[in-house]
Amino acid sequence: MMAVRELPPDATSDLDANDADATESQRAIRVMRPRRAAPADAVRPTRAEVNLGALRHNVAVVRERAQGAKVWAVLKADGYGHGAPAVARTLERAKVDGFCVALLEEAIELRDAGIAAPILVMGGYYGRAYDEVLRRNLTPVLYDPSHLEGFARMVRSGSFPGPVSVHVKIDTGMARLGVRPKDLPAFADALADTPEIRVEGLMTHLANADAETADDNDAQVARFDEATAYLAKRGVRAKLRHAANSAALLKQSALLDAVRPGIAVFGICPSIHDRADLQMAMRVRTEVVDVRTIDPGDPVGYGGLYRASRPTRIATVSMGYADGLPRALSNRGAMLVRGKRAPIVGAVSMDMTMLDVTEIPDVGLRDEVVVLGGQEGTSGKDFIGAEEMARNADQIPWEVLTQISRRVPRFYREP
Ligand SMILES: *Cc1c(COP(=O)(O)O)cnc(C)c1O
Repeated sequence: MMAVRELPPDATSDLDANDADATESQRAIRVMRPRRAAPADAVRPTRAEVNLGALRHNVAVVRERAQGAKVWAVLKADGYGHGAPAVARTLERAKVDGFCVALLEEAIELRDAGIAAPILVMGGYYGRAYDEVLRRNLTPVLYDPSHLEGFARMVRSGSFPGPVSVHVKIDTGMARLGVRPKDLPAFADALADTPEIRVEGLMTHLANADAETADDNDAQVARFDEATAYLAKRGVRAKLRHAANSAALLKQSALLDAVRPGIAVFGICPSIHDRADLQMAMRVRTEVVDVRTIDPGDPVGYGGLYRASRPTRIATVSMGYADGLPRALSNRGAMLVRGKRAPIVGAVSMDMTMLDVTEIPDVGLRDEVVVLGGQEGTSGKDFIGAEEMARNADQIPWEVLTQISRRVPRFYREP
């Protein structure tokens, strides 16, 4: 943590440190990188490129839709697979108001990377690490009276000055986390017994924000309003209320005092019913590592799942299911080679996948292959989005982004 803080304030390029000839101060930033395969060690050509300019663009779109509500970017699951520390540093400089993560471990990773903005820990599981939450100046989300007791004990023991600022989660229709409306009286009693805790925020989570209309959001917000009014009557007045994920935000529904966009920050529209000018921040690329022409009837890959029906040019690429390419894409979907779609043929294997490049002239060893994102080449220009890959693999875009595995190094790029 100290090593991070001591960096010169202008040593901001997490990206340039990828270069072998980066300056000494830039190289020092490598300590703040995701723990996975480090770019400097990458021999294999497979990598995920994260466009930091796209993140800034998306935050500007989000901020405009938020209509003055605070923007807390959700960076759980390693920043949706983009590398949470690097993303957080970029967004902190772009003046987002705070961050949300699922796990205490994720919050600690951000603090260790030097992130000073408010961090909300949404998952509500603290084990016995209450002191860690307070020492790191994190904002816990509570819904269980035992949490109140855990944090209050830290204050009573004199280890931390009170009161502890917390957000309380209300279950208005997810049946996942939160105080259920019928349990609010007991929770309010518990709050009254713990003056060491100050409720700064109230939150809820929407179950159906990606639907065509905002009707379900409205119904949940109405229950949230009731809970808020009840707590106010019991003397609990939160200054921040929040509910909106990306889908609600893009519909400008349930904006309240703060919004919690995740997937939109990374440039993906969460629903076919929402529209926004977002830019996908992640581009996953690899290269052709072998090419051959096979005869009609020849099988391709494990189990011979594909059989050539004509003389077929097969290119093998260096990305498989262990890298996060869903095996469900066997014989489905495509990758871009020379700017044109090449269908995936045969079974996706652990480290490699085969493409039919018969229709693309001159494909050779070390040609770039784009798995996610855009490419322009001698045969055209095209784009494969996370939505498209999700459709082909019977997944959702959230899975597509978060499953890119730690074996794939992340490279950070300015546009
Ligand atoms: C993941 C999550 C979000 C962000 O959801 P997106 O659909 O990615 O915008 C917001 N709030 C909570 C509680 C979450 O778990």
